[in-house]
Amino acid sequence: MKNYYKLSLKCPKCCKELGDTEKIIDGIPAVKFIIHSHGEEGLIWLSALYGSYEKQSTLNVPEGEISSFSCPHCKAELISNANCNLCQAPLVDLHLFEGGKVSICSRAGCTKHSIEFEDLNTAINHFFNVFETQSHLPK
Ligand SMILES: [Zn+2]
Ligand SMILES: [Zn+2]
Repeated sequence: MKNYYKLSLKCPKCCKELGDTEKIIDGIPAVKFIIHSHGEEGLIWLSALYGSYEKQSTLNVPEGEISSFSCPHCKAELISNANCNLCQAPLVDLHLFEGGKVSICSRAGCTKHSIEFEDLNTAINHFFNVFETQSHLPK
């Protein structure tokens, strides 16, 4: 059985929730962004499940293209000062409501396009909490 961890993400600039209750991916509200690619503006939704690669977009961004990601609330561009360790494209930084942050790659089709914890300690804490909860469930 695969255990997924549901992420609650907020914009690092305005601190508003990025989950969109009108767009369900993997059975839960997806994470919404505004994207710009080749001068066009669109929306993209990424699955809020850690480890899922599901996404939907109003733009047809070809594999390999880098898009810029912005907050749907304050329109700030969400860019990290770090680059993807797989493809060198800029990363997009997001904050977790519980604390800590995650990053996604801005290049379409990059295998780092799913949401990943940047800080290993954060990841360990989250998974440990999930594991704790599950181990206490009645059999
Ligand atoms: Zn914002
Ligand atoms: Zn990448």
